[in-house]
Amino acid sequence: MSPGIALDIVSILEQLVAHETISDRSNLHIVDWIVERLAPAGVRVSRSFNADGSKANLLVSFGPRCAGGVVLSGHTDVVPVAGQAWSTNPFTVSRVGDRLHGRGTCDMKGFVAASMAAISEADLGKLKRPLHLALSYDEEVGHLGVAGLIRDLLATEERPAVAIIGEPTEMKVGLSHRGFAGHKTTFLGKAAHSGDPSLGVNAIHAAADFIQFLRNSPEIHEYQRDGLTYNVGAIKGGAAVNIVPSLCELEWEFRAVNVSQAECIRALIRAYLSPARDVYSIGHTDVLADAPPLSEAGPDAIELLARLGFNDCVRQLSFCTEAGHFQAAGIAAVVCGPGSIQQAHQADEWVALEQLFRAKEMVQRLIEAQSA
Ligand SMILES: [Zn+2]
Repeated sequence: MSPGIALDIVSILEQLVAHETISDRSNLHIVDWIVERLAPAGVRVSRSFNADGSKANLLVSFGPRCAGGVVLSGHTDVVPVAGQAWSTNPFTVSRVGDRLHGRGTCDMKGFVAASMAAISEADLGKLKRPLHLALSYDEEVGHLGVAGLIRDLLATEERPAVAIIGEPTEMKVGLSHRGFAGHKTTFLGKAAHSGDPSLGVNAIHAAADFIQFLRNSPEIHEYQRDGLTYNVGAIKGGAAVNIVPSLCELEWEFRAVNVSQAECIRALIRAYLSPARDVYSIGHTDVLADAPPLSEAGPDAIELLARLGFNDCVRQLSFCTEAGHFQAAGIAAVVCGPGSIQQAHQADEWVALEQLFRAKEMVQRLIEAQSA
């Protein structure tokens, strides 16, 4: 990159936060802004879009096209602020002591800002292996963008060796996390006057039976002992106390520790919900979100982070990231980013300046490593 355009980490973060990229809005403006800032580096830029073209993934690649690349992975969207008691404007970065407050400072525009700052200062002409900045849309609403982003990456570049997902781990190295599979099942019954319930089919009872299945299944109990969790989070159905309900909707999710456990539980539940079991009471299941687990970080990824000076590892993170998508695509993935997940999604979300500087240092060392 030509000298004299080094970007300041805080001012980048201010601009990123000022783009209100809540998941129900377009993110095209923030993508354009990032491209504009990085353009002087003479980079390869690729955008991949959602169905209606209102949102884009961004892939920016530096260095030669060859094997051994490293991906810095982030997302451009943030969670809503509605209903949260913020003490400052969430879309204006406010400095409070050594902390920067604002929506996305921690999850995860801080990582994007740190990466951009390091990239803008670096001599990218010396890169011997690729460095990719890969930013998805709609991470917060079920990882909707990242599959297209990885497709684009594999179609246009050599398969990278490692992906660093910059979700907030306080710059510890997250080696694994459970997946997240969210569903909405609609149970269909048959309405009737409750004076003679035998004339109807009670959809709420059907949903309740499914809940009992989840709670009592010996197989599920065994998976739970191995780390699986599940949750029935919402139920909606029925019209009045004296009508047999014809419809009940249930939202439920499970978090599996690895891909094979996810497949097993999926098969178990699919068998239970099979329409052949009871044509009147089982409707259909919509997948709301399906994020694969990060089973175990590859040795390449752990070794790279250790070489960069980051070797404080967390065996299992409590939250789900896009890392499992990269792993499923044959790219060794780890999670390492600034800030704490405790501040993510909260009112008065913040990140410590020191964390941003450590993230920037990681990317600087990574660029050096990719140039050696
Ligand atoms: Zn995030």
